[in-house]
Amino acid sequence: MTRSTYRPATLLVRGGLDRTNHAETAEALFLTSGFVYDDAAQAEATFKGEISHYQYSRFGNPTVAMLEARLAALEGAEACRVTATGMAAVHAAMLSHLKTGDRVVASRALFGSCHWIVSTLLPRYGIESVFVDGADLAQWKEALSRPAAMVLLESPSNPMLEMVDIAAVSKLAHAAGALVVVDNVFATPLLQKPFELGADVVVYSCTKHMDGQGRVLGGAVLGRQKWVDEVLQPFIRNTGPSLSPFNAWVILKGLETLKLRVDQMCRNAAAVADFLAERLEVSRVLYPFRPDHPQQALAMRQMSGGGTLVTFEVRGGKEACFRFLDALRLVDVSNNLGDSKSLVTHPATTTHMRIGEEERARLGITEGTVRLSVGLEDVADLIEDLAQALDAAAPSHEARAAE
Ligand SMILES: *Cc1c(COP(=O)(O)O)cnc(C)c1O
Repeated sequence: MTRSTYRPATLLVRGGLDRTNHAETAEALFLTSGFVYDDAAQAEATFKGEISHYQYSRFGNPTVAMLEARLAALEGAEACRVTATGMAAVHAAMLSHLKTGDRVVASRALFGSCHWIVSTLLPRYGIESVFVDGADLAQWKEALSRPAAMVLLESPSNPMLEMVDIAAVSKLAHAAGALVVVDNVFATPLLQKPFELGADVVVYSCTKHMDGQGRVLGGAVLGRQKWVDEVLQPFIRNTGPSLSPFNAWVILKGLETLKLRVDQMCRNAAAVADFLAERLEVSRVLYPFRPDHPQQALAMRQMSGGGTLVTFEVRGGKEACFRFLDALRLVDVSNNLGDSKSLVTHPATTTHMRIGEEERARLGITEGTVRLSVGLEDVADLIEDLAQALDAAAPSHEARAAE
């Protein structure tokens, strides 16, 4: 790699590649917990920070470093640290930066475990947390009229695919003194560029589209060099959420096909959304780039593609919805997403069961809400499967006519 201006498809294949003196083609897998020194003086110089030498894989590892360099190049970030899971990334980004007495403002529509950190964990340490409706700028303005240490947001959100205006919220957040952390999992690094919109830190679950083939867990935090070196790295180094070199190697291989997969999954998702919108058994379809999405204009301004997820509402409540889910033959029922296999989730009884009925109602999640992560199967096979399952779920024609 001699240029830093390569396009994403090139960076995904070659970014961060650091060959050994064996000149191997593919990224080498360094399954080693530790490293040795030529002599005691070299060890001393390493610990003093006078020379650059790997010390211990909790602090750094050559395979893991290749993944960090590739993700930083792709995101256009100064620095990246990867972690064992996406939640370890979110946790490290937040807890490395926050202290007792701080205020955190977050969009309400967060991934379940992110919601738990903000609502339950932070207050235990004397950190105040405030939730706002992410789509409502007036609520952000109100919450950020007082100083805050951090803003955490997710866009598009899980599972209702609600958009947050990242540029507008970043401006308000910076005026309040807050670090803006964006969970960019649903958009992937290819469809949305939070740093260009004003974010300070971007977090990912590499488990989702980056591996994308259902094999390993992983997470990533990206930000400015100074913040990563002085705030994040000491936290990760001393608390140990490190990513296994093997998992880093699997994710490096996954990234090589990320653009091919995400582009095709977006095309499949758009076609599936259009198909679902025509079905009588479906009362509502949410897909960011469809004209009937309440924030289509913002989505098209902020993202370069509609994404790989479609959320929709099956008429007839939980019973009809479960009939639909159980009738699927190709699409699997699973709480994962971003996989090459299409996966379908019933948020009210799984991923969003614990937040309670009131909070679900506030987010717009009903007993009929279905989140579909569209994969790489032939889209005609997917549509045939969804069609036969909707037929099986349909309430009687009389009931339908009455609606
Ligand atoms: C999956 C996910 C996470 C957590 O990632 P893990 O790898 O499962 O720990 C965080 N945020 C979003 C939006 C996710 O989809």
